[in-house]
Amino acid sequence: MHEISVLYKAVELAEQTAKDNGISHLSYITLEVGELSGYLPVFFEKYFPVVIENRPVFKDCELKMIIARGEGLCLECNAMYNIMANEGKCPKCGSRYKKILGGQQFLLKEIGFEEEKE
Ligand SMILES: [Zn+2]
Repeated sequence: MHEISVLYKAVELAEQTAKDNGISHLSYITLEVGELSGYLPVFFEKYFPVVIENRPVFKDCELKMIIARGEGLCLECNAMYNIMANEGKCPKCGSRYKKILGGQQFLLKEIGFEEEKE
């Protein structure tokens, strides 16, 4: 279960970014989770309320996620394909010899906030 520790890091990063910019409340944060990162988005949803507990800057903060597709380039026939959907095998020629083009990332993509009204 590595999700909770990376989620802590993302939340701490968002909190620090908010602090550095004088933002008192975040309305949402967006994580980008690659299909091949090994992290399951369902766990981020589950742990998010726990991780943001006792952090006022995250009160009623929404967790958004962008799932980045795991794309592969077949090194036999140059076809591009979705690695997850094809179980790592080129759908055109059946080769497993490939270059991974994306979908391994996990990052804090965006933080959302509303301007303070004076
Ligand atoms: Zn191929």
